[in-house]
Amino acid sequence: MAYFDLHTHTYYSFDGHIHPFDLCEAACKAGLFGIAMSEHYDFYADDSFLYYRLFEAGRNPMLERMRSLYGDCLRIWKGIELGQPHYNLRLYRELMRRADFDLIIGSIHDLPPKENIYNINYRSQQDCDRVFECYFDEMAKMIEACDFDILAHLDYPVRVMGGVFEDTPELERYESLIRPILRRCVEKEIALEVNTAGLHKWQKRPGPGLWVLRAYKAYGGEMLTLGSDAHRLQHVARGFDWGADMIRQAGFDRITYFEKRRPKFIDL
Ligand SMILES: [Zn+2]
Ligand SMILES: [Zn+2]
Repeated sequence: MAYFDLHTHTYYSFDGHIHPFDLCEAACKAGLFGIAMSEHYDFYADDSFLYYRLFEAGRNPMLERMRSLYGDCLRIWKGIELGQPHYNLRLYRELMRRADFDLIIGSIHDLPPKENIYNINYRSQQDCDRVFECYFDEMAKMIEACDFDILAHLDYPVRVMGGVFEDTPELERYESLIRPILRRCVEKEIALEVNTAGLHKWQKRPGPGLWVLRAYKAYGGEMLTLGSDAHRLQHVARGFDWGADMIRQAGFDRITYFEKRRPKFIDL
């Protein structure tokens, strides 16, 4: 089947290394059906880190140029990845007033007030427990406070916990925190993302685990998306056969994408 990658970062993201043209070229060559550029916009209470805003004005003209060059080959969607938007609701609302996105991804990258999950020194199970408990608590708050389409990388902190665990933790330990999140996603019609970035991290597999996808389905969830979270060209759509297989194993027979913030489906 022709996949679509709903989670990529070009140089419009502070940590993206991909030129938008290279992304479209690679996506066409790989036979993708569509690609979303879901650039980072992270929020902090102190109004800091406004990288996205600096380059925002250039995005629409760039998207139009790419659509005119690659539109015959590929659908190109304007996405955004909001990092902890509930930490600064004023800036979040300001962005949403001018939002013209095809899809909005919601993520937690930092614990309050500004503790980057990637920069924590994980030495013990207790360190991991502290981060996960706070992480899921913030995720639940983001879901209540903000309007977005896709909940990204639910197992995100695992990426940097390789020094503590020998095998990828399945996160059942935090089931009582995860289940209400999944239930609220279903109620608020938020899709859950299968993120394949773990393939090039220590855990060497997509996430979150199958039990999470099955629990989301058991609450009535129907929308799973696939995203590579690529920041470099070689990671675009990487591991999608594996991701699609997980989606199938969880009992879904289609994958979701978004256009102008409306969910659409492709059969697996
Ligand atoms: Zn992210
Ligand atoms: Zn991302």
